[in-house]
Amino acid sequence: MHKLTIAEIARKLRSKEFSSEEITRHLLQRISELDTRYNSFVTVTAEQAIAQAKQADTRLASGDTEPMCGVPFAHKDIFCTNSVLTTCGSKMLSNFVPPYDACVVTNFKNAGAVMLGKTNMDEFAMGSSNETSYYGPVKNPWDTNCVPGGSSGGSAAAVAALLAPGATATDTGGSIRQPAALCGITGIKPTYGRVSRWGMIAFASSLDQAGVMAKSAEDAAIMLNTMASFDEKDSTCVDQPLEDYTAGLGNPLAGVTVGIPKEYFGEGLNAGTQAAVEAAIKELEKAGAKIKSISLPHTHLAVPAYYVIAPAECSANLSRFDGVRYGYRCDEPKDLEDLYKRSRGEGFGDEVKRRILVGTYCLSAGYYDAYYGKAQVVRRLIKQDFVEAFKEVDVIAGPTSPSPAFQFGAKSDDPVAMYLEDIYTIATNLAGLPGMSLPCGLVDDKPVGLQLIGNYFAEGKLLNLAHQFQQATDFHSLAPASIA
Ligand code: GLN
Repeated sequence: MHKLTIAEIARKLRSKEFSSEEITRHLLQRISELDTRYNSFVTVTAEQAIAQAKQADTRLASGDTEPMCGVPFAHKDIFCTNSVLTTCGSKMLSNFVPPYDACVVTNFKNAGAVMLGKTNMDEFAMGSSNETSYYGPVKNPWDTNCVPGGSSGGSAAAVAALLAPGATATDTGGSIRQPAALCGITGIKPTYGRVSRWGMIAFASSLDQAGVMAKSAEDAAIMLNTMASFDEKDSTCVDQPLEDYTAGLGNPLAGVTVGIPKEYFGEGLNAGTQAAVEAAIKELEKAGAKIKSISLPHTHLAVPAYYVIAPAECSANLSRFDGVRYGYRCDEPKDLEDLYKRSRGEGFGDEVKRRILVGTYCLSAGYYDAYYGKAQVVRRLIKQDFVEAFKEVDVIAGPTSPSPAFQFGAKSDDPVAMYLEDIYTIATNLAGLPGMSLPCGLVDDKPVGLQLIGNYFAEGKLLNLAHQFQQATDFHSLAPASIA
């Protein structure tokens, strides 16, 4: 049962091959037996999952047509879940039990989906390797000596290890696409504003966007249909008609032009990754797409601009964690200042502190214009690159990350090397565009991803392109040899 896709599970629930309770129990059993290897879950909500599955079985018996009804899945531990611990991978929130559900959580509940638990992640979604979680690193199911990518490493590992057929995730600079690439699964970050951020713990509000991870583009489309909504409680949520992302799967690719940015194939790209991505692009051409070489001239400025803007926003967002209102509070504070200092000093990990320091510096009087103001100008140039490119092409394709999964510790002492993991993904967030990653080959027995970037609200186009690729190839159905 754990090998099935969401589309298959939905069909089999209706043909009564098994019930939601049966598949839920099966996956809970797998998690309890196998997750000691991967550490992909922070919290497993077994009792609640079985109760939700029973309710879903009642809905299914009365002919419910919601595709996610009765389908088990996992939420990244960044989404607030009513009465369920929500840690964001941090000691700071190690005791935080929200009194409400995030909008995304409500959407899945309303659809009758069954939450298996909350997945591990880099602390406050800062990282590319899942080594910064207070709950310990997540291991890559393809090679447990390697990182799964981050920050949504728990969600990616849970799907790759066949512990859950799909999971929610978030992407501020690549946190859905990079771990999807490193774990050999499919992930999509929709257009900024397509999915509500309400109840999703904020890292960098102008960049954060929720999305999904699954075994296939078809499954990602099913999940995104459930996840996307307009929400008045998020003022940046866009009131744009919802699209049925599964409806366009199978549309012919003739007439679709795919742009290949030359800047995404330069220095730093692993040769094996490059070969796999180039072969995938040939495959798209075979499927009917037209391939065109393009330029995104400000690509090299994306990482530096992001590492001013994201820390600046995080330093403001994380000021709410003060030992008074939420989460961790130090023991026996002497006075208010001691309470603030020690609660934050003890509650946050090193990477989070580094970002807060950088962000506070960039925003301070005298430096604001030189750093933050300048980064915003660069952000506009990067966005403009895409605006120009999308006059000529429908979709942009390239590598998701420069190389396959690396060993634990390989980059943790070198923040810049770690930051460069997201060199191909960050520009998409700066521009607010949708992006996805899908498996396109193995290099040294480890998966690599093809990234597709679309114009605003072109999620359907990306998913269709990915779906067609997955109809013609079987990289998405490969599973690590150690997983039965
Ligand atoms: N790796 C990037 C960072 O550390 C992106 C993280 C994310 O997308 N949440 O900021």
